[in-house]
Order: sequence, then structure tokens, then C-alpha cells
Amino acid sequence: MIRKIAHIGVAVKNVKEAEKLYAEVLGLPITGREVSPDNKVSFIPLGDTSIELLESVEPDGAIARHIEKRGEGIHHIALEVDNIEKALEEMKAKGLALIDQKPRRGAHDAKIAFLHPKGTYGVLLELCEPKKQ
Ligand code: ZN
Repeated sequence: MIRKIAHIGVAVKNVKEAEKLYAEVLGLPITGREVSPDNKVSFIPLGDTSIELLESVEPDGAIARHIEKRGEGIHHIALEVDNIEKALEEMKAKGLALIDQKPRRGAHDAKIAFLHPKGTYGVLLELCEPKKQ
């Protein structure tokens, strides 16, 4: 049901600044930029997965609040699933706490939903079903 790590989300104060590290210092390509409903996102594909740099659009958005509490850094790990509705149902049935009871739209028009970190050893896990091509 879970295929791979879809991406690793990194919370930053400024995506343009953070891109410099990945592009200029580490030599990785930035292949896209998008404003998802809540965040400015930069995409850095790496092997079969990618890093997503996330900057909150609103000063009190989830990413901004995360940075206030914990500083910049890894925010979540996204797991790619075939059928997010089914995955959410199964995880709920197995007793995991969900942040999102229903999927919502993420970057690249994917369907996403977050699991609560209290049930996942402190890791914020995102389920991600990519938009069908
Ligand atoms: Zn994500």
C-alpha cells in the first residue's frame, strides 16, 4: 500500500534563500516552484524521491508556527500511497490518530493527509496520493 517516500518536507523561513544551499552548494536542480494552498514550495528531486522546501504564505500558517516552536528543519516525511481514502481508513481502524480525516489538496495537485505525530514516535507523517497522469 505504501510505495516509497514521496518527499521530505523541510520548513524554512525563506525558500529563495534555502534554495541557494541546495542548488549552489549541493548542486541539486530546483525543478519547480508552486504556491500550494498554504505554502510556497520548491521541488528538489533526488533519486526516486524529493525534498520540498516549505515557506508559509501566512505569518501564522502551520509551517510558520512550526518554525516558531522548533526552528527551521525537517517538518514531515510523506509516504506515497495508491489510494489515500483507503489508507486513511485502514490506519484509523488500526488506531492511529489522524490530523486530517479526509484528504485535502497539496502541491502538484496531490491528495494529502497528515497522521498525528503522537502515534508515530514524534514524526509527522503525510500520506500522499499523486495526481493520476
Ligand atoms: Zn508534504
